Amino acid sequence: MQFNEMTIHELRRLLRAGEVSSQEVLEAVLARIDEVEGEIGAYLALCREEAFAQAQRADEMLSKGDASPLCGIPISLKDNFTTAGVRTTCASRLLENYIPPFDAAAAARLKEAGAVLVGKTNLDEFGLGSSTENSQFHCTRNPWDLSRVPGGSSGGSAAAVAAGEAVAALGTDTGGSIRQPAAFCGIVGLKPTYGLVSRYGVVAAADSLDHVGPMTRDVRDAALMLQAIAGWDPKDPTSARQDVPHYEAALTGNVKGLVVGLPRELMGDALDAEVKEAVFGAANLLESLGARVEEVSLPNVEYAMSAFYIIISAEVSSNLARFDGVRYGYRAAEAEDTVSMFIKTREALGQEAKRRILMGTYFLQAGNYDAYYLKALKVRTLIKEDFEKAFQRCHVMISPTTPTAAFSFGHKTATPISMYKSDIYTCTANLAGIPALTVPCGYTQGGLPIGLQFMGKPFEESTILRIGHAYEQHAGLPVRRPEMEVKANG
Ligand code: GLN
Repeated sequence: MQFNEMTIHELRRLLRAGEVSSQEVLEAVLARIDEVEGEIGAYLALCREEAFAQAQRADEMLSKGDASPLCGIPISLKDNFTTAGVRTTCASRLLENYIPPFDAAAAARLKEAGAVLVGKTNLDEFGLGSSTENSQFHCTRNPWDLSRVPGGSSGGSAAAVAAGEAVAALGTDTGGSIRQPAAFCGIVGLKPTYGLVSRYGVVAAADSLDHVGPMTRDVRDAALMLQAIAGWDPKDPTSARQDVPHYEAALTGNVKGLVVGLPRELMGDALDAEVKEAVFGAANLLESLGARVEEVSLPNVEYAMSAFYIIISAEVSSNLARFDGVRYGYRAAEAEDTVSMFIKTREALGQEAKRRILMGTYFLQAGNYDAYYLKALKVRTLIKEDFEKAFQRCHVMISPTTPTAAFSFGHKTATPISMYKSDIYTCTANLAGIPALTVPCGYTQGGLPIGLQFMGKPFEESTILRIGHAYEQHAGLPVRRPEMEVKANG
Protein backbone atom coordinates (compact mmCIF):
# COMPACT_ATOMS: atom_id res chain seq x y z
CA MET A 1 0.00 0.00 0.00
CA GLN A 2 1.18 3.49 -0.81
CA PHE A 3 1.89 5.93 2.03
CA ASN A 4 -0.79 8.35 0.84
CA GLU A 5 -3.44 5.63 1.26
CA MET A 6 -2.55 4.69 4.82
CA THR A 7 -4.28 5.74 8.01
CA ILE A 8 -2.80 8.18 10.49
CA HIS A 9 -2.13 5.40 12.97
CA GLU A 10 -0.36 3.21 10.41
CA LEU A 11 1.80 6.15 9.41
CA ARG A 12 2.39 7.06 13.06
CA ARG A 13 4.04 3.68 13.56
CA LEU A 14 6.19 3.96 10.43
CA LEU A 15 7.17 7.57 11.13
CA ARG A 16 8.13 6.84 14.71
CA ALA A 17 10.11 3.78 13.68
CA GLY A 18 11.95 5.90 11.15
CA GLU A 19 10.74 3.63 8.33
CA VAL A 20 9.45 6.60 6.39
CA SER A 21 9.91 10.34 6.71
CA SER A 22 7.21 12.96 6.72
CA GLN A 23 8.70 14.38 3.55
CA GLU A 24 8.33 11.01 1.80
CA VAL A 25 4.71 10.73 2.89
CA LEU A 26 4.08 14.25 1.61
CA GLU A 27 5.73 13.37 -1.71
CA ALA A 28 3.38 10.39 -2.07
CA VAL A 29 0.36 12.62 -1.38
CA LEU A 30 1.50 15.27 -3.86
CA ALA A 31 2.22 12.63 -6.52
CA ARG A 32 -1.31 11.36 -6.08
CA ILE A 33 -2.64 14.89 -6.37
CA ASP A 34 -0.74 15.33 -9.64
CA GLU A 35 -2.23 12.10 -10.87
CA VAL A 36 -5.93 12.52 -10.03
CA GLU A 37 -6.67 16.10 -9.03
CA GLY A 38 -7.53 17.05 -12.61
CA GLU A 39 -10.43 14.62 -12.42
CA ILE A 40 -11.44 15.03 -8.77
CA GLY A 41 -11.07 18.77 -8.16
CA ALA A 42 -10.91 18.41 -4.37
CA TYR A 43 -8.70 21.45 -3.77
CA LEU A 44 -9.06 25.19 -4.14
CA ALA A 45 -5.44 25.84 -3.17
CA LEU A 46 -2.32 23.76 -2.62
CA CYS A 47 0.48 24.80 -0.27
CA ARG A 48 3.37 22.76 -1.67
CA GLU A 49 6.24 24.90 -0.45
CA GLU A 50 4.89 25.57 3.01
CA ALA A 51 4.03 21.87 3.27
CA PHE A 52 7.61 20.80 2.59
CA ALA A 53 8.87 23.23 5.22
CA GLN A 54 6.34 21.83 7.71
CA ALA A 55 7.27 18.24 6.82
CA GLN A 56 10.92 19.02 7.42
CA ARG A 57 10.05 20.46 10.83
CA ALA A 58 7.93 17.41 11.57
CA ASP A 59 10.87 15.14 10.71
CA GLU A 60 13.00 17.07 13.19
CA MET A 61 10.31 16.70 15.87
CA LEU A 62 10.07 12.98 15.10
CA SER A 63 13.80 12.52 15.37
CA LYS A 64 13.65 14.00 18.88
CA GLY A 65 11.04 11.40 19.77
CA ASP A 66 8.52 13.71 21.39
CA ALA A 67 6.05 13.77 18.56
CA SER A 68 2.24 13.74 18.76
CA PRO A 69 0.32 11.14 16.71
CA LEU A 70 -0.33 13.72 14.00
CA CYS A 71 3.27 14.72 13.59
CA GLY A 72 4.24 14.53 9.95
CA ILE A 73 0.75 13.64 8.68
CA PRO A 74 -0.41 15.45 5.51
CA ILE A 75 -3.87 16.87 6.08
CA SER A 76 -6.19 19.24 4.30
CA LEU A 77 -8.60 21.87 5.57
CA LYS A 78 -11.94 22.96 4.19
CA ASP A 79 -11.49 26.41 2.74
CA ASN A 80 -13.59 28.10 5.40
CA PHE A 81 -10.83 27.70 8.01
CA THR A 82 -8.69 30.81 8.04
CA THR A 83 -5.02 30.05 7.44
CA ALA A 84 -2.35 32.67 7.99
CA GLY A 85 -0.85 33.70 4.68
CA VAL A 86 -2.90 31.15 2.71
CA ARG A 87 -5.88 32.30 0.67
CA THR A 88 -9.21 31.45 2.31
CA THR A 89 -12.13 31.81 -0.05
CA CYS A 90 -15.11 29.87 1.34
CA ALA A 91 -15.55 29.05 -2.39
CA SER A 92 -16.97 32.55 -2.80
CA ARG A 93 -16.04 35.26 -5.28
CA LEU A 94 -16.42 37.68 -2.40
CA LEU A 95 -13.34 36.23 -0.72
CA GLU A 96 -11.51 35.26 -3.89
CA ASN A 97 -8.38 37.16 -2.90
CA TYR A 98 -8.68 37.13 0.87
CA ILE A 99 -5.48 36.17 2.68
CA PRO A 100 -6.12 36.01 6.42
CA PRO A 101 -3.50 37.24 8.87
CA PHE A 102 -4.21 34.45 11.38
CA ASP A 103 -4.89 30.72 11.76
CA ALA A 104 -8.21 29.27 12.88
CA ALA A 105 -7.81 27.68 16.32
CA ALA A 106 -8.27 24.13 14.98
CA ALA A 107 -5.72 24.78 12.22
CA ALA A 108 -3.26 26.17 14.77
CA ARG A 109 -3.67 23.14 17.02
CA LEU A 110 -3.03 20.74 14.13
CA LYS A 111 0.03 22.74 13.16
CA GLU A 112 1.32 22.61 16.73
CA ALA A 113 0.85 18.86 16.69
CA GLY A 114 3.13 18.74 13.65
CA ALA A 115 0.50 18.04 10.98
CA VAL A 116 1.41 19.15 7.47
CA LEU A 117 -1.13 21.32 5.62
CA VAL A 118 -1.33 20.17 2.01
CA GLY A 119 -4.06 22.51 0.89
CA LYS A 120 -7.51 24.01 1.22
CA THR A 121 -10.47 22.04 -0.03
CA ASN A 122 -13.55 22.89 -2.04
CA LEU A 123 -16.99 23.47 -0.51
CA ASP A 124 -20.39 24.87 -1.28
CA GLU A 125 -20.08 28.64 -1.04
CA PHE A 126 -19.98 29.55 2.69
CA GLY A 127 -20.96 25.95 3.51
CA LEU A 128 -24.43 26.29 1.99
CA GLY A 129 -25.30 23.15 0.10
CA SER A 130 -25.11 19.37 0.08
CA SER A 131 -23.21 18.57 -3.11
CA THR A 132 -20.33 21.09 -3.47
CA GLU A 133 -22.10 22.22 -6.67
CA ASN A 134 -22.54 25.64 -5.05
CA SER A 135 -18.80 26.32 -5.12
CA GLN A 136 -18.25 29.41 -7.22
CA PHE A 137 -15.00 27.99 -8.58
CA HIS A 138 -15.47 24.41 -9.74
CA CYS A 139 -17.23 21.15 -8.92
CA THR A 140 -15.63 18.29 -7.02
CA ARG A 141 -16.25 14.78 -8.27
CA ASN A 142 -16.93 11.71 -6.16
CA PRO A 143 -13.90 9.37 -6.47
CA TRP A 144 -16.25 6.36 -6.43
CA ASP A 145 -18.13 7.55 -9.50
CA LEU A 146 -17.00 10.64 -11.32
CA SER A 147 -20.51 11.36 -12.59
CA ARG A 148 -21.70 11.82 -9.00
CA VAL A 149 -21.32 14.51 -6.37
CA PRO A 150 -19.07 13.98 -3.34
CA GLY A 151 -21.76 15.45 -1.06
CA GLY A 152 -21.39 18.75 0.71
CA SER A 153 -20.67 21.13 1.90
CA SER A 154 -17.30 19.59 2.92
CA GLY A 155 -17.17 17.71 -0.41
CA GLY A 156 -13.56 18.64 -1.19
CA SER A 157 -12.28 17.31 2.14
CA ALA A 158 -14.22 14.05 1.74
CA ALA A 159 -13.07 13.51 -1.85
CA ALA A 160 -9.45 14.33 -0.97
CA VAL A 161 -9.35 11.68 1.78
CA ALA A 162 -11.21 9.08 -0.30
CA ALA A 163 -8.99 9.61 -3.34
CA GLY A 164 -5.70 9.48 -1.41
CA GLU A 165 -5.01 13.20 -1.91
CA ALA A 166 -4.73 13.75 1.86
CA VAL A 167 -4.43 11.36 4.79
CA ALA A 168 -7.12 13.15 6.80
CA ALA A 169 -9.00 16.43 6.73
CA LEU A 170 -11.10 18.83 8.74
CA GLY A 171 -14.57 19.87 7.72
CA THR A 172 -17.39 21.87 9.22
CA ASP A 173 -20.88 20.60 9.86
CA THR A 174 -23.88 22.91 10.23
CA GLY A 175 -26.56 20.43 9.22
CA GLY A 176 -24.60 17.43 8.01
CA SER A 177 -21.71 18.86 6.02
CA ILE A 178 -19.10 16.55 7.54
CA ARG A 179 -21.21 13.40 7.80
CA GLN A 180 -23.10 13.50 4.50
CA PRO A 181 -20.02 13.89 2.26
CA ALA A 182 -18.12 11.38 4.42
CA ALA A 183 -20.94 8.87 3.83
CA PHE A 184 -21.02 9.62 0.08
CA CYS A 185 -17.26 9.11 -0.22
CA GLY A 186 -16.95 6.02 2.00
CA ILE A 187 -14.97 7.57 4.86
CA VAL A 188 -15.49 8.33 8.56
CA GLY A 189 -16.78 11.76 9.67
CA LEU A 190 -17.38 13.09 13.17
CA LYS A 191 -19.41 16.08 14.27
CA PRO A 192 -18.50 16.61 17.92
CA THR A 193 -20.69 18.08 20.66
CA TYR A 194 -21.44 21.78 20.32
CA GLY A 195 -18.69 23.66 22.17
CA LEU A 196 -16.10 20.87 22.24
CA VAL A 197 -13.99 22.16 19.33
CA SER A 198 -13.21 25.85 18.96
CA ARG A 199 -14.65 27.63 15.94
CA TYR A 200 -12.39 30.62 16.30
CA GLY A 201 -11.27 31.55 12.80
CA VAL A 202 -13.86 29.46 11.01
CA VAL A 203 -15.97 31.66 8.75
CA ALA A 204 -19.43 31.40 10.29
CA ALA A 205 -22.46 30.14 8.44
CA ALA A 206 -24.82 29.74 11.42
CA ASP A 207 -23.28 30.18 14.85
CA SER A 208 -25.74 28.09 16.81
CA LEU A 209 -25.33 25.13 14.42
CA ASP A 210 -21.73 25.23 13.12
CA HIS A 211 -19.30 22.54 14.28
CA VAL A 212 -15.71 21.64 13.39
CA GLY A 213 -14.70 17.99 13.07
CA PRO A 214 -12.47 15.34 11.50
CA MET A 215 -12.91 13.42 8.23
CA THR A 216 -10.73 10.32 8.20
CA ARG A 217 -10.16 6.81 6.82
CA ASP A 218 -11.19 5.05 10.01
CA VAL A 219 -12.54 5.62 13.50
CA ARG A 220 -9.17 5.48 15.24
CA ASP A 221 -7.97 8.32 13.03
CA ALA A 222 -11.08 10.32 13.93
CA ALA A 223 -10.21 9.83 17.63
CA LEU A 224 -6.63 11.02 17.03
CA MET A 225 -7.72 14.10 15.11
CA LEU A 226 -10.38 14.97 17.69
CA GLN A 227 -7.83 14.67 20.47
CA ALA A 228 -5.68 17.31 18.81
CA ILE A 229 -8.45 19.87 18.22
CA ALA A 230 -10.80 19.41 21.21
CA GLY A 231 -10.77 21.52 24.34
CA TRP A 232 -11.54 24.93 25.73
CA ASP A 233 -10.51 28.01 23.80
CA PRO A 234 -10.87 31.44 25.43
CA LYS A 235 -11.12 32.99 21.96
CA ASP A 236 -14.39 31.20 21.21
CA PRO A 237 -17.19 32.41 23.50
CA THR A 238 -19.22 29.25 22.80
CA SER A 239 -16.34 26.95 23.72
CA ALA A 240 -17.11 24.57 26.61
CA ARG A 241 -14.91 24.28 29.70
CA GLN A 242 -14.89 20.54 29.54
CA ASP A 243 -12.28 17.95 30.36
CA VAL A 244 -11.08 16.16 27.26
CA PRO A 245 -10.80 12.41 27.78
CA HIS A 246 -8.31 10.14 26.03
CA TYR A 247 -10.32 9.15 22.98
CA GLU A 248 -8.06 6.46 21.60
CA ALA A 249 -8.12 4.67 24.97
CA ALA A 250 -11.89 4.34 24.58
CA LEU A 251 -11.49 2.10 21.52
CA THR A 252 -11.66 -1.15 23.45
CA GLY A 253 -13.63 -3.12 20.87
CA ASN A 254 -16.08 -4.05 23.59
CA VAL A 255 -19.74 -3.04 23.24
CA LYS A 256 -21.27 -5.61 25.58
CA GLY A 257 -24.15 -4.18 27.55
CA LEU A 258 -24.50 -1.02 25.45
CA VAL A 259 -28.10 -0.19 24.66
CA VAL A 260 -28.45 1.07 21.10
CA GLY A 261 -31.58 3.03 20.23
CA LEU A 262 -33.00 2.77 16.72
CA PRO A 263 -35.30 5.79 16.28
CA ARG A 264 -38.33 4.65 14.33
CA GLU A 265 -38.84 8.11 12.80
CA LEU A 266 -35.40 7.96 11.17
CA MET A 267 -36.15 4.72 9.34
CA GLY A 268 -39.15 6.07 7.42
CA ASP A 269 -40.33 6.33 3.84
CA ALA A 270 -37.68 8.72 2.55
CA LEU A 271 -35.16 5.95 2.95
CA ASP A 272 -33.68 4.06 0.03
CA ALA A 273 -34.21 0.27 0.38
CA GLU A 274 -30.51 -0.59 0.12
CA VAL A 275 -29.60 1.97 2.78
CA LYS A 276 -32.33 0.65 5.07
CA GLU A 277 -31.09 -2.91 4.66
CA ALA A 278 -27.52 -1.84 5.44
CA VAL A 279 -28.65 -0.11 8.66
CA PHE A 280 -30.68 -3.12 9.81
CA GLY A 281 -27.69 -5.30 8.98
CA ALA A 282 -25.53 -3.10 11.19
CA ALA A 283 -28.08 -3.31 14.02
CA ASN A 284 -27.95 -7.12 13.83
CA LEU A 285 -24.18 -7.10 13.88
CA LEU A 286 -24.13 -4.86 16.96
CA GLU A 287 -26.49 -7.30 18.69
CA SER A 288 -24.23 -10.20 17.84
CA LEU A 289 -21.38 -8.25 19.48
CA GLY A 290 -23.33 -8.03 22.73
CA ALA A 291 -25.14 -4.70 22.41
CA ARG A 292 -28.91 -4.55 22.83
CA VAL A 293 -30.83 -2.78 20.09
CA GLU A 294 -34.15 -1.19 21.04
CA GLU A 295 -36.61 0.86 19.08
CA VAL A 296 -36.91 4.41 20.44
CA SER A 297 -39.00 7.36 19.39
CA LEU A 298 -38.13 10.97 18.56
CA PRO A 299 -41.65 12.27 17.94
CA ASN A 300 -40.66 15.79 16.89
CA VAL A 301 -37.92 15.00 14.40
CA GLU A 302 -40.41 15.16 11.57
CA TYR A 303 -40.21 18.94 12.01
CA ALA A 304 -36.42 19.01 12.25
CA MET A 305 -35.69 19.85 8.63
CA SER A 306 -38.16 22.72 8.53
CA ALA A 307 -36.89 24.17 11.79
CA PHE A 308 -33.30 23.69 10.67
CA TYR A 309 -33.68 25.59 7.40
CA ILE A 310 -35.47 28.46 9.12
CA ILE A 311 -32.76 28.80 11.77
CA ILE A 312 -29.82 28.40 9.41
CA SER A 313 -31.26 30.95 6.97
CA ALA A 314 -31.93 33.46 9.74
CA GLU A 315 -28.37 33.15 11.03
CA VAL A 316 -26.81 33.14 7.55
CA SER A 317 -28.65 36.32 6.59
CA SER A 318 -27.08 38.00 9.58
CA ASN A 319 -23.58 36.49 9.19
CA LEU A 320 -23.23 37.22 5.48
CA ALA A 321 -24.08 40.89 6.05
CA ARG A 322 -20.42 41.45 6.84
CA PHE A 323 -19.43 40.80 3.22
CA ASP A 324 -20.29 44.25 2.02
CA GLY A 325 -17.23 45.30 0.04
CA VAL A 326 -15.87 47.36 2.94
CA ARG A 327 -14.27 44.99 5.39
CA TYR A 328 -13.18 41.92 3.47
CA GLY A 329 -12.45 40.74 -0.01
CA TYR A 330 -14.13 41.79 -3.19
CA ARG A 331 -15.58 45.25 -3.82
CA ALA A 332 -17.54 46.15 -6.96
CA ALA A 333 -15.52 48.81 -8.73
CA GLU A 334 -18.00 50.94 -10.55
CA ALA A 335 -20.56 52.27 -8.12
CA GLU A 336 -21.78 55.86 -7.80
CA ASP A 337 -22.37 55.79 -4.05
CA THR A 338 -21.94 53.57 -1.02
CA VAL A 339 -25.33 51.88 -1.14
CA SER A 340 -25.02 50.92 -4.78
CA MET A 341 -21.50 49.68 -4.00
CA PHE A 342 -22.98 47.35 -1.31
CA ILE A 343 -25.59 46.13 -3.75
CA LYS A 344 -23.22 45.57 -6.65
CA THR A 345 -20.69 43.83 -4.42
CA ARG A 346 -23.27 41.45 -3.03
CA GLU A 347 -24.53 40.61 -6.49
CA ALA A 348 -21.37 38.50 -6.72
CA LEU A 349 -22.80 36.02 -4.20
CA GLY A 350 -24.03 32.72 -5.62
CA GLN A 351 -27.67 31.80 -5.98
CA GLU A 352 -27.96 29.62 -2.86
CA ALA A 353 -26.34 32.23 -0.60
CA LYS A 354 -28.76 34.82 -1.97
CA ARG A 355 -31.67 32.46 -1.44
CA ARG A 356 -30.67 31.93 2.22
CA ILE A 357 -30.29 35.68 2.79
CA LEU A 358 -33.73 36.30 1.32
CA MET A 359 -35.35 33.51 3.31
CA GLY A 360 -33.57 34.47 6.52
CA THR A 361 -34.50 38.11 6.18
CA TYR A 362 -38.09 37.09 5.57
CA PHE A 363 -38.20 34.82 8.64
CA LEU A 364 -36.77 37.57 10.84
CA GLN A 365 -39.10 40.34 9.69
CA ALA A 366 -41.48 41.83 12.24
CA GLY A 367 -44.70 39.89 11.78
CA ASN A 368 -42.92 36.76 10.55
CA TYR A 369 -40.46 36.45 13.42
CA ASP A 370 -42.95 34.83 15.82
CA ALA A 371 -44.58 32.67 13.18
CA TYR A 372 -41.33 31.25 11.79
CA TYR A 373 -38.15 31.95 13.72
CA LEU A 374 -39.53 31.74 17.24
CA LYS A 375 -41.56 28.67 16.36
CA ALA A 376 -38.47 27.01 14.88
CA LEU A 377 -36.60 27.68 18.13
CA LYS A 378 -39.42 26.05 20.09
CA VAL A 379 -39.31 23.02 17.83
CA ARG A 380 -35.57 22.90 18.40
CA THR A 381 -36.15 22.71 22.16
CA LEU A 382 -38.70 19.92 21.70
CA ILE A 383 -36.23 17.95 19.58
CA LYS A 384 -33.56 18.38 22.22
CA GLU A 385 -36.00 17.07 24.82
CA ASP A 386 -36.87 14.11 22.58
CA PHE A 387 -33.19 13.17 22.55
CA GLU A 388 -32.86 13.61 26.31
CA LYS A 389 -35.82 11.30 26.88
CA ALA A 390 -34.61 8.70 24.41
CA PHE A 391 -31.13 8.77 25.95
CA GLN A 392 -32.65 7.75 29.27
CA ARG A 393 -33.31 4.40 27.62
CA CYS A 394 -30.21 3.97 25.49
CA HIS A 395 -26.52 4.88 25.45
CA VAL A 396 -26.27 5.65 21.73
CA MET A 397 -28.58 5.78 18.73
CA ILE A 398 -28.03 4.58 15.21
CA SER A 399 -29.64 5.70 11.97
CA PRO A 400 -28.77 6.05 8.32
CA THR A 401 -26.50 9.03 7.65
CA THR A 402 -28.23 9.91 4.38
CA PRO A 403 -31.46 8.78 2.70
CA THR A 404 -29.61 7.64 -0.45
CA ALA A 405 -26.06 7.09 -1.65
CA ALA A 406 -24.30 9.80 -3.72
CA PHE A 407 -26.49 11.32 -6.44
CA SER A 408 -25.58 12.57 -9.92
CA PHE A 409 -24.54 16.11 -10.81
CA GLY A 410 -27.51 18.36 -11.50
CA HIS A 411 -29.91 15.83 -9.99
CA LYS A 412 -31.09 18.10 -7.18
CA THR A 413 -29.98 21.58 -8.20
CA ALA A 414 -33.29 22.50 -9.84
CA THR A 415 -35.35 21.88 -6.69
CA PRO A 416 -33.69 23.27 -3.55
CA ILE A 417 -36.06 21.35 -1.27
CA SER A 418 -34.90 18.01 -2.66
CA MET A 419 -31.32 19.11 -1.99
CA TYR A 420 -32.28 20.21 1.54
CA LYS A 421 -33.70 16.76 2.21
CA SER A 422 -30.20 15.27 2.00
CA ASP A 423 -29.78 16.48 5.59
CA ILE A 424 -32.92 14.91 6.94
CA TYR A 425 -31.03 12.44 9.20
CA THR A 426 -28.08 14.63 10.07
CA CYS A 427 -29.49 18.07 10.92
CA THR A 428 -31.23 16.77 14.06
CA ALA A 429 -27.86 16.32 15.80
CA ASN A 430 -26.93 19.94 14.96
CA LEU A 431 -30.22 21.21 16.39
CA ALA A 432 -29.67 19.19 19.58
CA GLY A 433 -25.90 19.87 19.74
CA ILE A 434 -25.13 16.19 20.32
CA PRO A 435 -22.13 14.31 18.86
CA ALA A 436 -22.65 12.18 15.75
CA LEU A 437 -20.34 9.93 13.78
CA THR A 438 -20.68 8.33 10.36
CA VAL A 439 -18.96 5.05 9.54
CA PRO A 440 -19.15 3.17 6.21
CA CYS A 441 -21.58 0.25 6.51
CA GLY A 442 -21.86 -1.21 3.02
CA TYR A 443 -22.20 -0.54 -0.67
CA THR A 444 -25.13 -0.23 -3.02
CA GLN A 445 -25.49 -2.66 -5.93
CA GLY A 446 -23.92 0.04 -8.03
CA GLY A 447 -20.85 0.04 -5.76
CA LEU A 448 -21.45 3.32 -3.94
CA PRO A 449 -20.64 3.59 -0.23
CA ILE A 450 -23.39 3.79 2.42
CA GLY A 451 -22.96 5.48 5.81
CA LEU A 452 -24.21 4.48 9.26
CA GLN A 453 -24.73 7.25 11.81
CA PHE A 454 -24.06 6.89 15.56
CA MET A 455 -25.43 9.64 17.82
CA GLY A 456 -24.41 10.07 21.45
CA LYS A 457 -25.11 12.05 24.60
CA PRO A 458 -23.46 15.47 24.87
CA PHE A 459 -19.69 15.16 25.38
CA GLU A 460 -19.82 11.38 25.09
CA GLU A 461 -17.70 11.22 21.95
CA SER A 462 -15.82 8.35 23.57
CA THR A 463 -18.92 6.16 23.52
CA ILE A 464 -19.80 6.71 19.86
CA LEU A 465 -16.15 6.30 18.88
CA ARG A 466 -16.00 3.06 20.87
CA ILE A 467 -19.09 1.56 19.25
CA GLY A 468 -18.22 2.94 15.81
CA HIS A 469 -14.78 1.39 16.08
CA ALA A 470 -16.12 -1.98 17.27
CA TYR A 471 -18.60 -1.95 14.40
CA GLU A 472 -15.91 -1.08 11.88
CA GLN A 473 -13.62 -3.86 13.15
CA HIS A 474 -16.31 -6.52 12.87
CA ALA A 475 -18.32 -5.34 9.88
CA GLY A 476 -16.01 -7.24 7.55
CA LEU A 477 -16.75 -4.86 4.70
CA PRO A 478 -14.88 -5.90 1.61
CA VAL A 479 -11.91 -3.59 1.35
CA ARG A 480 -12.72 -1.56 -1.71
CA ARG A 481 -11.19 1.53 -3.12
CA PRO A 482 -12.71 3.94 -5.53
CA GLU A 483 -12.68 2.48 -9.03
CA MET A 484 -10.37 5.21 -10.29
CA GLU A 485 -7.83 3.95 -7.79
CA VAL A 486 -7.90 0.57 -9.48
CA LYS A 487 -7.53 2.22 -12.88
CA ALA A 488 -4.70 4.41 -11.70
CA ASN A 489 -2.82 1.51 -10.16
CA GLY A 490 -3.38 -0.66 -13.20
N1 GLN B 1 -26.61 21.10 3.62
C1 GLN B 1 -27.02 22.04 4.62
C2 GLN B 1 -27.21 23.41 4.01
O1 GLN B 1 -27.24 23.51 2.84
C3 GLN B 1 -26.05 22.09 5.74
C4 GLN B 1 -24.78 22.64 5.30
C5 GLN B 1 -23.74 22.50 6.35
O2 GLN B 1 -23.79 21.62 7.20
N2 GLN B 1 -22.79 23.42 6.30
O3 GLN B 1 -27.35 24.35 4.69
